[in-house]
Amino acid sequence: MAEQDTQQTSVPQEKRASAPQERYDVIVVGGGPSGSSCASFLAKAGRSVLLLDRAKFPREKTCGDGISGKSVSVLAELGLLDAVRKGEHKDMTGLIFSSPNAKVVPISSVRSPDEPPPGFVCRREVFDNVVFQNAKKLAKRTIEGFVVSDVIRDGNRIIGVRGTSEGKELEFRAKAVVGADGAGSVVARKVGLVNEDDAHQCAALRAYFENVEGCTDKIELHFVKEALPGYFWVFPLPDKQANVGIGMIVRDMKKKKVNLKQVMDEVITKNPLFKERFKNAKPISSAKSWLLPLGSKKLKAYGNGFVLVGDAASLIDPFSGEGVGNGLMSGKIAADVLDTALSEDDLSEKSLSRYQKKLRENMEAEIDTNYRIQRLANNEFLLNLIIDKASRSKDVQELISDALIDPEAHKNFFDPMFYIRVILA
Ligand SMILES: Cc1cc2nc3c(=O)[nH]c(=O)nc-3n(C[C@H](O)[C@H](O)[C@H](O)COP(=O)(O)OP(=O)(O)OC[C@H]3O[C@@H](n4cnc5c(N)ncnc54)[C@H](O)[C@@H]3O)c2cc1C
Repeated sequence: MAEQDTQQTSVPQEKRASAPQERYDVIVVGGGPSGSSCASFLAKAGRSVLLLDRAKFPREKTCGDGISGKSVSVLAELGLLDAVRKGEHKDMTGLIFSSPNAKVVPISSVRSPDEPPPGFVCRREVFDNVVFQNAKKLAKRTIEGFVVSDVIRDGNRIIGVRGTSEGKELEFRAKAVVGADGAGSVVARKVGLVNEDDAHQCAALRAYFENVEGCTDKIELHFVKEALPGYFWVFPLPDKQANVGIGMIVRDMKKKKVNLKQVMDEVITKNPLFKERFKNAKPISSAKSWLLPLGSKKLKAYGNGFVLVGDAASLIDPFSGEGVGNGLMSGKIAADVLDTALSEDDLSEKSLSRYQKKLRENMEAEIDTNYRIQRLANNEFLLNLIIDKASRSKDVQELISDALIDPEAHKNFFDPMFYIRVILA
């Protein structure tokens, strides 16, 4: 379909741009990890892609900046691992947990010192720019600073998007549209497929600090009393800097009338585990908050002529809050399904339902298990029991490490034998 000027709009004639007549297979709305992954895989498959983002890169994204093994595997497929690792980042070899009664336990994710670190912490401003620039290089055309405001329909089929760039209103058409525009996605809203369930949304606040003492090569998740039911995190960055934040399910936050900023200040200044570590620490950014649409809300992520990926499809891990991995992965799966659908010249709802099926096969079991772990982690008694035992027993640390490293073994957390082994260890 041809790219064309807006014909039925209230924008004055002189504000409409005359655009060259170009044809695209797919329009990807949003150049974050999910959209850039999708655009890159589509372009590598020989499809012509128009990539649109309202921001100009490099741009910030409020995040914990934790990049896990799942992300690393997609980055490797895109050939971007070295480029990302060349940027400022800190390799991570495991996690540190603490319990509400202040027991601390380190869990290693590597089995031997020769094993490469499975994940890292990298500011999203740096990370996203690498993934976006790659997509921009591959896409037929990329427009930054383009704010999509609506989808264009032909009957019940999505055939394009409209939006504004530098005061000009433009329309673009393609055979399919990918909504990769994050939490608050315009595309998802316009097609009526939004996660608005506050039991399945997390609100999180993060700030950057320097001079946080005691940071290691492990990300830290702390189930401190002040933050329950939720957690406080410290994700170490180079040069004694750290990404520090706190997250909680929106429903719980509303019920308890929690102010995340107040809770974070309280943890940092009063909690015995942190007041010394933060004694000389200085915030080097303002504290910013954003919503996390969790994968525990099962959303339909496709329709006639479109698919949704990443946060727009509500795919964030409901326990860890990790969304970059599922975002990159959903972009790849969407590209694969769209490539086949384009070959068959069938972008119908039925044809694109294969995307949902593949998403399910790839991530549903893990999301379901981690949702159950999220609910278990609401139980203060259980958290104290497991973390206390693990802080005193290498065997329990290994049991937890096994259960965390292998997604299949996540299920151990629901096996009564797991708890019996923890208690007896
Ligand atoms: C506080 C916090 C901490 C988090 N910590 C982690 C973590 O440590 N690890 C992890 O893996 N995940 C974490 N997440 C989740 C993670 O940030 C998201 O899951 C991830 O960014 C999803 O990527 P995405 O590409 O789907 O969306 P985004 O990264 O949000 O990208 C969407 C893109 O769409 C563009 N866009 C939006 N609207 C429009 C529009 N109308 N027109 C054009 N373009 C548009 C935006 O400019 C943006 O570039 C955290 C989230 C929060 C809020």
